[in-house]
Formats: sequence, C-alpha cells, structure tokens
Amino acid sequence: MARIVQKFGGTSVADIARIRHVAGVVKRAVDAGDEVAVVVSAMAGQTNQLAAWAREISPLFDAREYDTVVASGEQVTAGLLAIALQDLGVNARSWLAWQLPFRTDEMHSRARIEGIETAAIEARFADGQVAVVPGFQGVGPDHRVTTLGRGGSDTSAVALAAALRADRCDIFTDVDGVYTTDPRIVPRARKLARVSFEEMLEMASQGAKVLQTRSVALAMRHRVRLQVLSSFEDRPGTLVVDEDEIVEQHVVSGVAYSPDEAKITLVSVPDRPGIAALIVGSLADAAINVDMIVQNVSEDGTTTDMTFTVGRSELERAVDVLTGVRDELAFRELRSDANVAKVSVVGLGMRSQHGVAKTMFRALADRGINIQVISTSEIKISVLIDSEYTELAVRALHTAFGLDTEDDGENKGSSET
Ligand code: ADP
Ligand code: ASP
Ligand code: MG
Repeated sequence: MARIVQKFGGTSVADIARIRHVAGVVKRAVDAGDEVAVVVSAMAGQTNQLAAWAREISPLFDAREYDTVVASGEQVTAGLLAIALQDLGVNARSWLAWQLPFRTDEMHSRARIEGIETAAIEARFADGQVAVVPGFQGVGPDHRVTTLGRGGSDTSAVALAAALRADRCDIFTDVDGVYTTDPRIVPRARKLARVSFEEMLEMASQGAKVLQTRSVALAMRHRVRLQVLSSFEDRPGTLVVDEDEIVEQHVVSGVAYSPDEAKITLVSVPDRPGIAALIVGSLADAAINVDMIVQNVSEDGTTTDMTFTVGRSELERAVDVLTGVRDELAFRELRSDANVAKVSVVGLGMRSQHGVAKTMFRALADRGINIQVISTSEIKISVLIDSEYTELAVRALHTAFGLDTEDDGENKGSSET
C-alpha cells in the first residue's frame, strides 16, 4: 500500500467522458489498496475563459475578485470528479481550499503556499475515502480565495504530497512524460525516462510548461518523488530525480522556449553607478521581474544603452514605471518590442564541457537567426530572438545537440488541445 497524490491537468478533465476516464484511473489505484488524494485542474480552456471575462469587464480588475472568478474552474472539476468516483462505487469527497484549509499568503493571482491542513483528509484515508482537491486555489490570511499563478495546480499537487508525506506525486497530463523539448513542435523530441530536478527546474523556468517551475522547486526541497505521465495511456512516464540517479549524462538534455517575452531598450542613459539598480529597483517595486540584461557603452563613453527583458504581459506596466522615473534615469529614448522569444538549452553536462555556446550560436547563425540578447547560468544558455524564428531555432538546436530520435513522433500525446 502506498500513499499517492494524483494530479490531472486541464485536457485530462476537459469533458465529462474524460472525467469518467480519470475516475477509472483513480479507481485502479484505490483498488490496488493505495491511499489516494487527487488534485484537479479546471477543464481545458476554462481558466482562459474566466480570466477573459474578468478582463472584459475591466482590464484593471481587482486581483481579489479575479481570484474569486478564476478559482471557480477547479471547484467544478473537483465536484464532478467526486461524483464520477462515487458513480463507480468509490468513496470520494471534494475539499475546497478554504475547507481544508490550504493556506497561502495574500499575493492574489500569484499566491505562495504557507501550509496545508491535512488532518481531515488523513482521517478519511482510514475509511478508504479518496480526497478530491481543486488545484490552483488557496485561502489567504484574510480568508479570501487566492490562486497560485497559471499552471499552479502542479504546485498544489506537490505541496499536498509534501504535506501528506506521500510516497509519490503523479502528474497526469496530455503527453506521456518530459521530452527533450516540447513534442508538439518537435516531432523528433525524445522522452526522458529520468530527468534531474536541477534540469527540470531550469527547463520549466525557461518555458517548458509541462510542470510549473514552483512545483519542481517544491518537490526538490521536500524530496517528493515526482512523476509525469499520460492520463490517456497506461505506460511509464518520466521520473524527476536527484542528479546522481541519472545514468546517461548528456551535455545538453533539453531545449526550452518561452514565447511570452518582451524587450525594452533604454537608449543613452548615463554610464554611472546606480543606474542599473534604479531601473531594476523601480521595476521590482512594481513586482515586475527583469530577466535578461545587456549593457553597451556608447561611443563617447559617457552614456550606455540598457536592454533587458520582462514578461510580455508586464510590458505595458514596465513602460509606465520607467516613464515615471524618466527624469532620474535621463534616457534619450525608450524602445519596446513584444515580438521576441527566448530559446534555451539546458544540461548538467555544461558544468564540465565547453563549446556549448559555440555549437548553439553556430546552429542559429546557419539558419540566419540573429541573437539579440544572451544570458547564461551554470547549466543553461538562453538567447533572445525574433519570435518569428522560435520553432526553427528550437528544431535547429535540438538537432545540433544530437537530441533527435529516429521516431517520427507518432504516439506522443494523444489529445487535441
Ligand atoms: P496540463 O493541462 O496537464 O497541466 P500543460 O499544457 O500545462 O498540461 O503541460 C503539458 C504540455 O507541456 C504538453 O502538451 C506540451 O506541449 C508542453 N511541453 C512543453 N515542453 C515540454 C517538454 N519538454 N516535455 C513535455 N511536454 C512539454
Ligand atoms: N487552471 C489553471 C490554469 O489554467 C491552473 C492549472 O491548470 O494548473 O492555469
Ligand atoms: Mg499545466
């Protein structure tokens, strides 16, 4: 007997037939004698629809009310799955975030988890009851509903697994594991039997949305045994494991891309101490994260051009913030570009192997793709390019680092999203 948390994403609960199918998957674990807690996402497309309705009424919506609206998608699927389980004769009960409670801080729309009360769930495990918990939602210090940021159900599942000291957290999705890159854009992507926490963390934070970044960080910290697998086919998925459990080490294990980037250039700011701090500081005060940064000293040596990236959805606010401190920054011009994408190669082997940047830049140059900004970490190199070339760049890098399979990509994901 094991204690497991199973999480089902939006496509896995997209309609009633799929919810019934998921109930069957849960029942199999229950019949095997496992204690099961289930975390569900909203039906595919539902969160987008709910968010669009909030924006339609007012683009400057109140974040508290936004959370009230978008958290509702998961309430629906949690209740429906509990009904589907009961219909199969499984003892099941849904638990909304406030009922447990599943506590977060007060940062609406991107709240952080502070603690989960599992006593009610654990008491009912003893009676063989399955708990169905809506992902993505929490309850803040003021008892208001919060949400964890897009893709947050993965994080709900891992946090619940940690709180329950579960033996395993299974993330069921519409692909059968973690691939060397998004299998939907590279049919020759290869499924990884295992991926290290470090690489998965980097791939997720560089755009591989198969797992929300925070879920990976949480699993790493709490040593949750994490698995990604298909909800449609019963076959082994990908295990996220410690580095020393990886047998076959590649220099580059994966290629990730993020289309949600925007670039800002401040032309001709004074070249003196404190300028970068002021730029990044004023954006940070507005909760806007700056990612890639380059600085070029101008010809006369007294001014510099600063180029950096922010999330595309934050571009307008970032421009507003910087315009507000224009007098202090004394830039000549502010240029912004939302037609950019970030493409990254990730691999633990980069720590010891040289030449990755050379291979990467050569592969892009051979396709005529211009690199606008570069950033690196110990196990990753990212480049910012024109978004038009995103797929071409991802494919080129996948081939250049020897990640292509002979397989033509049949049988990877079985759903239409
Ligand atoms: P869910 O609704 O189940 O949470 P998501 O859409 O959030 O599913 O994540 C699954 C999707 O992640 C896949 O359909 C795939 O297109 C995408 N993806 C991006 N990068 C990868 C990768 N390296 N491996 C697998 N899937 C990836
Ligand atoms: N339903 C939420 C979203 O679409 C959370 C999730 O699916 O993980 O972002
Ligand atoms: Mg997801």
